[in-house]
Amino acid sequence: MFSLDKLVRPNIQRLTPYSCARDEFKGRAAKVFLDANENPYNTPFNRYPDPLQEELKAKLAPVKGVAPQCIFLGNGSDEAIDLVYRIFCEPGRDNVVAIAPTYGMYSVCADINDVEYRAVPLRQDFTLDADALLSATDSRTKVIWLCSPNNPTGNALERAAVERIIKEFQGIVVVDEAYSDFNDLRPFRLDLDRFPNIIVLNTFSKLWASAAIRLGMAFASPEIIALFNKVKYPYNVNILTLKQAVAMLSDLQHINLWRATLLKERSHLLPAIAELPICKAVYPTDANFFLARVTDANDIYRYLVDNGIIVRNRSRVELCDNCLRFTIGTPEENNALLGALRRYRR
Ligand code: PMP
Repeated sequence: MFSLDKLVRPNIQRLTPYSCARDEFKGRAAKVFLDANENPYNTPFNRYPDPLQEELKAKLAPVKGVAPQCIFLGNGSDEAIDLVYRIFCEPGRDNVVAIAPTYGMYSVCADINDVEYRAVPLRQDFTLDADALLSATDSRTKVIWLCSPNNPTGNALERAAVERIIKEFQGIVVVDEAYSDFNDLRPFRLDLDRFPNIIVLNTFSKLWASAAIRLGMAFASPEIIALFNKVKYPYNVNILTLKQAVAMLSDLQHINLWRATLLKERSHLLPAIAELPICKAVYPTDANFFLARVTDANDIYRYLVDNGIIVRNRSRVELCDNCLRFTIGTPEENNALLGALRRYRR
C-alpha cells in the first residue's frame, strides 16, 4: 500500500512553515494594509503577491481539468523538480531512478541535494523498459522520474508501461508532461484520482509560449500539494508573472492557433529532414521538437552556427550518438534550416 507519510523526510513532516502576512489575513474587505512592512506607494507593485496564487489557479483549473487544490505553481517546472527532492529525499541516504537519456535537471537537482541518481537506459528505439526501471529501485528509492514526451528523444512513453510503474512502485512517480500539449494522448494529470503517488509536471514555457515569465505547474493529490506549499518560498510566483498568465488564459485562441501551426510545420519538416543525404534517421516525435541521427553531428552543428542557426547537439548524450535535436520554429525559420542543410557539403 502506498503511504505518503512514510515517504516524506522527517524534518519536512515536523516543519512549521513560515507564516507570512498574506497567509494570516486573507479577506478583501480591509482598506488599510499596515501588516507586511510594505511601502504604500507604487501600486500595485508595492504589495506582496498572493502566496497561493488563488485567482490564477481558479482560471487554470477548468483549462487543465484539475481541481485548484491539486495545483502547485512555481518559478518554472524546475522549481517543482527541486522541491520533489527537498520534500522526499534524505541527502546522502535516499536515491531516485530515472530513464536515460532525459531532461538534465532531474540529475542536476539530485546532485545539488546530494541524492543518488540511478539512470536506466531506454531501449535502443527509446521505448520504456518498465522491468529495468523497477529492478533498479530498492527500499531507499523515493522517486522515479519519467518524462513523456521525453526530452531529448521526443517520443511519448507507452502508457501501459508507465501505468505499470506507477502501480508497482510504492514511492513517488513524477510524470513530466512539459510537451504533452503537442499530442492527442490522454495526459496523466486527468488520472490523479486513480494514482495517489503521481506528480505531473506542466509548464507555460512550451505550447503556452511564455518561457520568459517562469511559470511551471505540478498536479498531484491535495496532500502532496500541501507539502509543496509547506516547503516553497512564501511568494514564489511574482505579480508580473501572475498577471501575464491570467491574460494568457483569457485568450486561448492564440494557443490553439500556435498548436495547429506547429503541428503542421512538424509534419512538413520531419520528412524533409529525413530525405536529406546527411540524415540517417529521424525519430518519431510527440513534441515540438525531434531528434535526427546525422552523418556528422559536430560538423553539421558548427556549420549551422556559422549560418546563424542554432540547434541542440545531443551527440554526447547516451543513445544519441551523432544526434541533433531540432525545435519546430515558424515556417520561415524551418525553411531557413532546411535551406541551409540542403546546401551543406562535406
Ligand atoms: N521539463 C522538461 C522535459 C523540459 O524539457 C524543460 C525545459 N526545457 C522543463 C521541464 C523546464 O521547464 P520550465 O521552463 O517550466 O522550468
